[in-house]
Amino acid sequence: MKIHIDIDCFFVSAARIAEPELEHKAVAIGGRSDTKIFSKDAKNQTVNFENSGSFVPTFYAKYEDDKVNCNAREGSLGCDIASFTDENGKVRGILTTSSYEARSFGVKTAMTIREALQLCPHLIVKAPNMSLYQKLSHELHEFLCTKIPLVEQASIDEFYGDLSGWVEDKDIPAFIDTLRHEILHILKLPVSIGAAPTRYIAKLATTYAKPFGSKVIDKYNFDAFVNPIAVGDFAGIGKSMKQKLHSAQIHTLGDIRKRRGTLESWGPYAKDLYKRVNGEIDAPIKTTHRRKSIGISRTMDPLYDRVELIRRVHILARHLAYAILKLNVIPTVFHLGIRYEMNQKSHKNISMAELFTEKKFDSLCLRLFNEADSQKRLKIINLSINCSSFTRDSKKELSLIGFEDEQKMRKLTEQTQILRERYGIDTLKWGSEM
Ligand SMILES: [Mg+2]
Repeated sequence: MKIHIDIDCFFVSAARIAEPELEHKAVAIGGRSDTKIFSKDAKNQTVNFENSGSFVPTFYAKYEDDKVNCNAREGSLGCDIASFTDENGKVRGILTTSSYEARSFGVKTAMTIREALQLCPHLIVKAPNMSLYQKLSHELHEFLCTKIPLVEQASIDEFYGDLSGWVEDKDIPAFIDTLRHEILHILKLPVSIGAAPTRYIAKLATTYAKPFGSKVIDKYNFDAFVNPIAVGDFAGIGKSMKQKLHSAQIHTLGDIRKRRGTLESWGPYAKDLYKRVNGEIDAPIKTTHRRKSIGISRTMDPLYDRVELIRRVHILARHLAYAILKLNVIPTVFHLGIRYEMNQKSHKNISMAELFTEKKFDSLCLRLFNEADSQKRLKIINLSINCSSFTRDSKKELSLIGFEDEQKMRKLTEQTQILRERYGIDTLKWGSEM
């Protein structure tokens, strides 16, 4: 399954992290382009690029007649209305984001600030803070990478993840529900998450999960969910395609699914669209993020039984091996850490530039555990394995000794991975784990 994660009213949520008293209030973020640079007498001025990112629209609204009485708004909580008011007292600018409390008054994205204030006079308008958005976006990305092997950032507040093989289908509702609560707890960001067999349907599911919800679309509810949705709500159907569909009496996604021939006759884009709506095609999750390390760690009730601990090392190794293969990287530094009761710690590192195979990794983890376990009379409360210093080139940088034999082992590992991606990570286990 693929998942789509979208931060709920991101810029407002970010403002609420900076100013928690904005919580539960009608808040909107204004956008105003920096037009000073066009001024004829512009001279040695400081140009602020912070707010000129591609995610902030560069609209510039003009009001010749109406003036909004800003004095009446004085004293309202943290309102930045002054930064949207020009020298003549006119409020300029449009909204880039609004809170759900503001939306209940009809306030919408791309509405002028003046219009929004007429609909919702107590609206708190904040200036954008691009560097805060970038920081939070980066933190969420990093966090997601610790939870999911494959994460793609689609925009400043949207991510896709691939859970196939990593989380079993039956566990996905609980997994994404836990994930969004963790994100809220740790990063203070409310997100909504959609899960579906393809990224396109997952994105659609997120729309219906908002705010702060999760939704899973599988083969059982696919038709019931997809069919009634208006064509305009599907990402990738723009204004002209929407008109074309309407003129052919196609109004819902269900109509599209019934009119394969019509869409195919419209050329490759419409043909593709049919397949996307039908969940027939998908694009892979592309990780642009260059990960530096990957690890797994589990805290447990104090445990003395070394046989059971070794079994747990095998399980951690299997899960981590799966994630490493999914990332398609070759780690060359391996670390195993043990935390004992009474605040005692121990760890072992090893560097090894060889082809990565699961069996070898499993043996390595066992060896690291036996070497690191220096306090054999103490109970263990945490085990962690971390792999780093990735190389992606398997021939140039790796030892060529035994390369042929390793390639055979690598083939087995790849077959295992294919089976696990298809049937789940617990499909194949090593005997040592039983
Ligand atoms: Mg969003």
